[in-house]
Amino acid sequence: MKPSRILSVICAIAVLASLSGCCGKTAKDEGRAKYIFLFIGDGMGNSHVAATESYLSYKEGKLGGEQLRFTQFPYLGLASTYSANASITCSSAAGTAIACGAKTNNGMVGMDTEGNHLKSMAFDLKENGYKIGIMSSVPINHATPSSFYAHNKQRSAHYQLSQEIPASGFEFFGGAGFLDYKGKDGKEEATDTYLEKNGYKVCYGADEFNSTADGCEKIVFCQPSDRQSDAEQYTTDGKEESDASLAEIVEMAVGFLGDKDPFFIMCEGGAIDWEAHGNNTMGTIRETLEFDKAIEVAYQFYLAHPDETLIVVTADHETGGIALGANGGGSVIDWARLEEAGKETKELNAKCSIGWTTGGHTGAPVPTYAIGKGAEKFCGRYDNTDIKGKILGE
Ligand SMILES: [Zn+2]
Repeated sequence: MKPSRILSVICAIAVLASLSGCCGKTAKDEGRAKYIFLFIGDGMGNSHVAATESYLSYKEGKLGGEQLRFTQFPYLGLASTYSANASITCSSAAGTAIACGAKTNNGMVGMDTEGNHLKSMAFDLKENGYKIGIMSSVPINHATPSSFYAHNKQRSAHYQLSQEIPASGFEFFGGAGFLDYKGKDGKEEATDTYLEKNGYKVCYGADEFNSTADGCEKIVFCQPSDRQSDAEQYTTDGKEESDASLAEIVEMAVGFLGDKDPFFIMCEGGAIDWEAHGNNTMGTIRETLEFDKAIEVAYQFYLAHPDETLIVVTADHETGGIALGANGGGSVIDWARLEEAGKETKELNAKCSIGWTTGGHTGAPVPTYAIGKGAEKFCGRYDNTDIKGKILGE
């Protein structure tokens, strides 16, 4: 090839590269994984994880040693969770801290304490060409998922939170459905009608999703049991057989977003918190196991793309103050008795050596587990507002 021809080819490559952005890579891009999974176990403290592993060990006839998938990840850290105005955070302030990297007051979503909009990592990544998926085992406009796409002084403004979905432009949303589906008074436009008018296909159930996802650019998955109604408490104990598990929702998201473009998936195990608020030990364990199954989907994806994938698993706060060991109990947890009880009481839990200190949240720091590209940054002790920068590779 003549030198002038070579030069023009190089120029053409340079122009194409700069257009596609691939030659404009910054040091930041180099440190950032192409595929990012962030799992938030709502209310999942160290002892929720320990209780689940103790139960798994009991099922194997042992006192300990069994592990969840995510506790086998090689990097482990501990994140503090206090909010701007409380030692004990709520899910919207903690979700905002994780998503946006800034403290705010309890009750606020995606805003600082002055009411200024904050930018979640999902928006940063979208600007950098990532496709975005936001999903939860509870309603899509609950506090934690909302922190990634919405901005409001009140986490209870559910209807207004879901109205912000179209402005996000995020490709995939999945969950139990929507709280205040037609507004608090039930007289507003139905949320699914509003979303469909604004560029989203809203699917109810896996069958509808699978038959319509092809060719859609933006999609919302809701459980079929929540069609045309306020999403009720959704737990993965088979309330409706046709409901999808959290793992199946992650599978849908991974399939929908594909591996051609980079993606960011935030998946919340929201019902862990709900069970822990009720001080239900077996329900908390069941939801933690469901959460682990969802993480397994991401782990299998990681095994196929180990150099380009980051999986981070954390919690927004700890709920219930569950303890392995309680007054009135012995030194071996009586899992058989708890499992058979059906209905739990505080006294029964204590007799079985499980203690609960509150029906609310606690101020304990939460564990963070990571594997894949950039996972080593999640070692040590840090604040929940540091997680955004670590994920973005800053
Ligand atoms: Zn909670």
